[in-house]
Order: sequence, then C-alpha cells, then structure tokens
Amino acid sequence: MTTTDIAPIIELRRASFGYADHPVVTGATLAIRRGEVVAVLGPNGSGKSTLVRGLLGLNDHLGGDVELFGQPRESFTDFAKLGYVPQRHTLSASVRATVTEIVAVGRLSHHRWWRPVIRSSQDAAIIDRALDVVGLNDRAHADVATLSGGQQRRVLIARALASNPDVLLMDEPTAGVDTANQQVLSEVLARLAARGTTMVIVTHELAALADIVTRIVVVQGGHIAFDGSRDEFASRTGEFASSADHHHHEDESRGARPRLPGAPSSGPLDPQGGA
Ligand code: ADP
Repeated sequence: MTTTDIAPIIELRRASFGYADHPVVTGATLAIRRGEVVAVLGPNGSGKSTLVRGLLGLNDHLGGDVELFGQPRESFTDFAKLGYVPQRHTLSASVRATVTEIVAVGRLSHHRWWRPVIRSSQDAAIIDRALDVVGLNDRAHADVATLSGGQQRRVLIARALASNPDVLLMDEPTAGVDTANQQVLSEVLARLAARGTTMVIVTHELAALADIVTRIVVVQGGHIAFDGSRDEFASRTGEFASSADHHHHEDESRGARPRLPGAPSSGPLDPQGGA
C-alpha cells in the first residue's frame, strides 16, 4: 500500500480560502476518509461553497495546508479522482447537446489532450452505467434543453460519475428542484452511498439525507463550528429526532452504517463496487 491509499482523501490543516486576498473561510482543519458521507451544513453566506470550491482550487488558497490523496493540492494533478457538481447549476437552454454528450465530458479527464475523443467501448459502458445510476437511461439521446431542472441536475451528477471519481463533491444537489425530483435525487445519493461512494454534500435538506450521512460539518462565519458523527450531531441538536416525520426509516438508520474506511479503492461505477 502506498501513502496515497492510506492518506485521507481530503485533508485541511488550518486552511484559509477566499477571493482576491479577502479570506472567507479561515483556519479550517478537516480530514475526510474513504467511505464517509459528509453533510456540510450552515447558514447562507457562511462559507460552505467557498470551502468546497477551495478544496478543488477554484478560489484562492490563502493559508494553511490542503492535501488531496496525501499530496499538496498545488502539486496534485489527478483531478479525475474528484467529481464535482457545482451549486444551482443547470444547463443553459442554448446548449445543444444530448444527455450522453454531456455525460461523456466526464470521460475527458481520462484522455490525453491530443485525443479528446470518446469512442472506446469502455467509455460507452461507463457512460451507460452513470446514466443508469441517476435513472436517465431512457433519456440518453434526448436534447438536454428538453429536460427539467431536476433531471439536468442528475445529468451533471452522471457527468461527475463518468470520471469514476474516488469522491463526489456536491454543492446543494437538491436545491431548487421540485419535490418529485428531490425524492429521485435522494434515492440516487442513497444508491451511491450503498456502493460505498465517498461524498461531500453541501445541503440544507439534512432530513432528506438522514439515512446516508455518516458525518456532519457545520460552517458558521467562515469557521468549522462543528465536526462530528451524525450521532454526536443528533445528541447536540436533536436534529434527527425531529426529522422522524419526514423519514419512516429513521429507526433502522439511527446508527452509523458499518463502513470500511481502509477498504480498497473502487470507483462508484466499478461493477465490483456495487452493493
Ligand atoms: P455559502 O455556500 O455558505 O452560502 P459562500 O461560500 O457562497 O457561502 O459565500 C461566503 C462568502 O463569500 C459570502 O460573503 C460571499 O459574498 C463571498 N463570496 C462567495 N463567492 C464569491 C466570489 N466569487 N467573489 C467574492 N466573494 C465571494
């Protein structure tokens, strides 16, 4: 086993992130390991997106250490290992592309720049599996502009899955989506969790994810105000007790699901990774 296998997937030590020298998140210390499903909670404007975007290098790293798979982020290059679904992002009505074409973009990270062409049967199989996970096989050849906002969010999750990432980072995947699609999205996330997919999910809908979340991070005023297991969070806030109305599986799911943090790497689309 190399250091990369045993190191946390994501590790922050007193890290600060912001925009043009203006710090928004400061002194964040956090380690996320394989198999965890982390909900990132906190008021609007507290810095949740800035934290997640900071991990990916999408804003300014203003201090402290950021390591991805045991390597300083600055020298990390294997971004196919990180699947990202940005906040409130849907596809513009002017995009003329099929669902399959959008998901295929997720395969590009596995191809060299001089051959950015998706044509292997392996690519096709992975794209199929990604569409299957999000329940959009029947729309594979549809124009994305004809899909609802919630379906487009699922296309973007499939695009992230198509790179077969080791961790999926999602910024409010269910926000602004109608109730029926929210339900479908929760099921998609539950399916991924059951396959052991490591996820970091910025969300306001903790109740909808109560069955799958193993750990909760609360961001307040740019600081990590709480970081603990779902049970620790529940005993502090009573949050899961009050979510029983929304969730009939509450009793079965109260304990953390058994997980193997040191389990061998398998991406969410590897057939052997399935539950
Ligand atoms: P949250 O995700 O918790 O709602 P954000 O991380 O989006 O919070 O925002 C935290 C703070 O960072 C806010 O004050 C916001 O105005 C600021 N901010 C977010 N994005 C940018 C940006 N692109 N440029 C400058 N400031 C930003």
